[in-house]
Amino acid sequence: MNLDHIAIAVNDIKQSSKLYGFLQPDNIAFTTFISEDVKIAMLNFGNIKLELLEPLSDNSTIKKFLNNNGPGLHHIAFSVSNLNKYIDLAKEKNFKIIDSISDVDHENNKMIFLHPKSFNGVLIELIERNK
Ligand code: ZN
Repeated sequence: MNLDHIAIAVNDIKQSSKLYGFLQPDNIAFTTFISEDVKIAMLNFGNIKLELLEPLSDNSTIKKFLNNNGPGLHHIAFSVSNLNKYIDLAKEKNFKIIDSISDVDHENNKMIFLHPKSFNGVLIELIERNK
């Protein structure tokens, strides 16, 4: 298991990318894509990525998050090689699995989210990468 990415909810990806790009101006890999009412930018920092999440509509879960909390840490993601194993483990430990979020992303990576109540207030993503 590795720390895969740290996700931050933002109002404006362009502005935020510049902000975080300031920390590593020479080596910023930057891709954006749209998923479930959310615009996502991935910034590479070594082996760990920073994921910026900007809502595209008022119905977006990120919009609701921003309304409630303002911009800031949204979730931390760990990559796993066998997601099913961790789903079983999470159930065994009675961790609350959030299933309202799509379980496959634009790259066909599989993922689940574990409720912040189970993890000291931090939303946890477990991701099994496609490649
Ligand atoms: Zn994520």
